[in-house]
Amino acid sequence: MNFKKKVLSVSLSSLMTLSAVTAVALPVGAVGNGPSAGNGQVTTSNLHTYESLVSYLETQDAKQERLALEVIGETVNGRDIYLAKYMSNPKNPTILFLTQQHGNEQLTTEGALEFIKHLGTNKTKGILENVNILIIPMLNADGAMGDVNFPLDDYLAKGDRHLTRANANGIDLNREHDKKTDSMQVEVKALHENVFAKYDIDYMIDIHHQGTLSETDGELVSGSILYPTNANVKPEVLEASKKLGAVVYNSIESTGWGHIGRYDGGSGENIGRNGAAVRYDIATLLFEMRGMSDHNIESVALGQKSNGYLVKQTVTTLDAAVRAIADDSIETADASFWDTLPTQYNRPGIESDE
Ligand SMILES: [Zn+2]
Repeated sequence: MNFKKKVLSVSLSSLMTLSAVTAVALPVGAVGNGPSAGNGQVTTSNLHTYESLVSYLETQDAKQERLALEVIGETVNGRDIYLAKYMSNPKNPTILFLTQQHGNEQLTTEGALEFIKHLGTNKTKGILENVNILIIPMLNADGAMGDVNFPLDDYLAKGDRHLTRANANGIDLNREHDKKTDSMQVEVKALHENVFAKYDIDYMIDIHHQGTLSETDGELVSGSILYPTNANVKPEVLEASKKLGAVVYNSIESTGWGHIGRYDGGSGENIGRNGAAVRYDIATLLFEMRGMSDHNIESVALGQKSNGYLVKQTVTTLDAAVRAIADDSIETADASFWDTLPTQYNRPGIESDE
């Protein structure tokens, strides 16, 4: 991996300001105490639709000088796929945040949108001058809107909208990453050709949701993480991935409500976490947050009571990652926690995702 050199010029005050902005992002009490069993009704009415997401991005684009929007391609059913870009300097290191490869995992997208709003405040200038940020919120927009070519009769969410893991063709987009681009589903093809191959990306966090009943040490986790585990990942890419994991782990565990386990994931190159690392030498981290936005299995879908801390968990993750990259502290992050991080245990009936 060729990590880009850059001049360290971020000020401490600007770092502190971003942290302070993040801390007031949600109403008092919204974060709660973290995971607990029983989370209320599964509803999707409080989530952005694809249309309201586009409107939100356009509003932020009009307000934010540093933000640029790019359409990287179309979904199977013709929805434009958006990339939000903060590209201040080509010499800066670049991080990509990817959400909703699986359409039924949306609180990560809600967090990413919240984060975009934060980046629009003038107080984050010291960050944006030292790191380039790419955000794809909702890669699988057809699945997110339940606009798919298969029946959804057994899905749980109340109301007229369902969200599905697969894209409109019923394909799992996170099993496409080892293919030739012409053989990929169009959403993944757009990601590879117009983002992975086009931008010089150093880091990626691929953000998902898992089931609701995973635990370590007898305690439900708020999420689980994993670095690329394919044997063809270069050692320096693996090391950088583990350091990215350390930054995220420390930021979440220090909140008091966050509890992170190690994800028990596969090593195949078809999975984004592995494929992006092998094909493009991108240091990657999978972050599986608790609970899906809709599902046909009751123990997997998450009710709305947990929305607050999971959105907050996403914002905290993105905030910590960009700050550590902007000030180069990621280079000295201690990755040794991986050696003792317990692998999460899934209680019966849980789908593990990725
Ligand atoms: Zn997923």
